Amino acid sequence: MNERIVAQINENNCIGCTICINACPFDAIIGAQNYSHRVNRQECPGCKVCVTKCPTDCIEIVKIKQSKDDIKEKVKFNFQRRKLRKENLKKIRSENINIQLNKIIKS
Ligand code: SF4
Ligand code: SF4
Repeated sequence: MNERIVAQINENNCIGCTICINACPFDAIIGAQNYSHRVNRQECPGCKVCVTKCPTDCIEIVKIKQSKDDIKEKVKFNFQRRKLRKENLKKIRSENINIQLNKIIKS
C-alpha cells in the first residue's frame, strides 16, 4: 500500500455550484446542482485543480493509503471517458446551432 493524496469536500460548506465537477480533469467529483458534492476517492489522483476553483474553499487535500497500480488504471480510464464526453457535447452543440441556423434561413 502506498500513501497518496486525494481531494475531500467539506459537505457542510458546499453550495452545490458544480464548478468543481466541470473543472475536474479526471471526472472524480459527483453531485447535483445545489446539493453537496463528493469526491470519488478511487478516481481522484489529487491534482488539486478543484481546490483553487471552489468559491467556498471547502475542498482540502488529504492523505490516504492505496495501491499505485490501481489508481493509475482508473485515472487513465476516467481521462478517456471525460475526453469522449466533451467531444460528444461539442458535436451535439454544433448540430443544435446548425438546426437553429437552418430555421432562421428558412423563415
Ligand atoms: S484533486 Fe483533481 S482529480 Fe481530484 S477531485 Fe480535485 S480536480 Fe478532480
Ligand atoms: S466548487 Fe466547492 S462549493 Fe462548488 S460544488 Fe464544488 S465543492 Fe461545492
